[in-house]
Amino acid sequence: MTVRVRYAPSPTGIPHVGNIRTALFNWLLARHHGGVFILRIEDTDRARYDPRAVDAIMESLRWLGLDWDEGPDVGGPYAPYVQSERLPLYQEAAERLLRSGHAYRCYCSPERLEMVRAEQMRQKIPPKYDRHCRLLSEEEARERGEPGAKPVIRFKTPLSGITRFEDAIRGEVEFDNETLDDFVILKSDGYPTYHLAHLVDDHEMRITHVLRGDEWISSAPRHVLMYEAFGWDPPVFAHLPVILGPDKAKLSKRHGATSVLEYRDQGYLPEALFNFLGLLGWSLDDRTVIISREQFIRHFDLSRVVKNPAIFDRDKLDWMNGVYIRELPEERLVDLLTEWLESHLPARVPRPIDREVVRRAAPLVRERIKRLDESVAMMDFFFWDEIHYSREELLGKAYAADPEGAARALTLALESLEQVTDWRHEAIEAPMRALAERLGVKTGALFGLVRVAVTGKSVSPPLFESMAIVGKERCLRRLHAALDLLGRPD
Ligand code: GLU
Repeated sequence: MTVRVRYAPSPTGIPHVGNIRTALFNWLLARHHGGVFILRIEDTDRARYDPRAVDAIMESLRWLGLDWDEGPDVGGPYAPYVQSERLPLYQEAAERLLRSGHAYRCYCSPERLEMVRAEQMRQKIPPKYDRHCRLLSEEEARERGEPGAKPVIRFKTPLSGITRFEDAIRGEVEFDNETLDDFVILKSDGYPTYHLAHLVDDHEMRITHVLRGDEWISSAPRHVLMYEAFGWDPPVFAHLPVILGPDKAKLSKRHGATSVLEYRDQGYLPEALFNFLGLLGWSLDDRTVIISREQFIRHFDLSRVVKNPAIFDRDKLDWMNGVYIRELPEERLVDLLTEWLESHLPARVPRPIDREVVRRAAPLVRERIKRLDESVAMMDFFFWDEIHYSREELLGKAYAADPEGAARALTLALESLEQVTDWRHEAIEAPMRALAERLGVKTGALFGLVRVAVTGKSVSPPLFESMAIVGKERCLRRLHAALDLLGRPD
């Protein structure tokens, strides 16, 4: 049996990480078993439809490398893969349930439903449809409805008994049928609800495993009953654990970025986010945290998915991203940094960014950033002559009380650096150390001064390596500018 799974998002907005975790687990199950991963767009809720969503969904999946074998754009044997293009199928299925006595038309007006609801609330009983039309003949029901009213079709749930199913993650799950509603399967506008549409599609598309968010578990008994009514075999159900923020509240905007594309735009690497999301509810063992894509594919299995909530720990993601940045192959790091700087350095910095400079600087920043976006503040001085700092920043703590001393030190530094012909970092460092000794100051004090003058920052990549990349002429110019700011000594 080929494993066939699907990611079936509703295009109601930009997909958030929780949703993409569902896509990832489906994808992993498919790839682990050499099966098929399907993308299906569930756009039957026209009121919540967001036209940007489908592109954003595809972009998120592509960025994470979650390729689909069948889907709206690539087609496949069960096309179309967009529910709004499959309406007749759902209508036929609803008719079929009507004919077999598993469903009925309901003509109740929204006003009546609201009244029933209000009354139930008043009596403090869980609101649900009172099955008014179920007890009437089709004719009677129609007569009671508004003239010309369009009916919905409701599923006839058993009034008693228990519905059970085996969830691959939760184990045996039971629901008392009494708690279930006669839910709508086809709306009055001819659109199906999720319950009908996904089930018909999962059956038609030969889906073997339904991995979906935990929020669907309470709907699962309805689906089990519908499979029975149709006489179809249900797929394996697996409800993935909910994702919580560190405060144990359901992950939401409050916890920071929630869409995958936001993470991309903040300088996270797809491989890091892949690894991180892959551990939200699944583990390889009790220890391993850095897991490659290949290892995930090799080992992913539903038996190691837990039912407890998964905690989305942003600090762990940052740490993990740093690990992935440190492990990037040199060429890829240079590509990523170049691209990032091209699009994020201020517009006044001349373009294109010199890739050679990025290549030389990359080893200096690799260890120092956790996210690509930090590269801008760390590397701008390589590309930009306009570096800004205040007199206080330049003097720092070491020279705060001794601006003349700072000016003298800078003058001498300039003199010795002018002598350096071979502008490599060792050749820059040696005379600077000698100068600190001559002046009787700590190297940190002198280097700090030069650091601000050359980079504009009190914290920067290693100073002499950076100076080597900035180049002799520009370094000397920047030291002169610093002297101008302090006032030259007499
Ligand atoms: N369209 C549903 C959603 O976006 C899909 C749930 C499922 O995977 O069946 O939540």
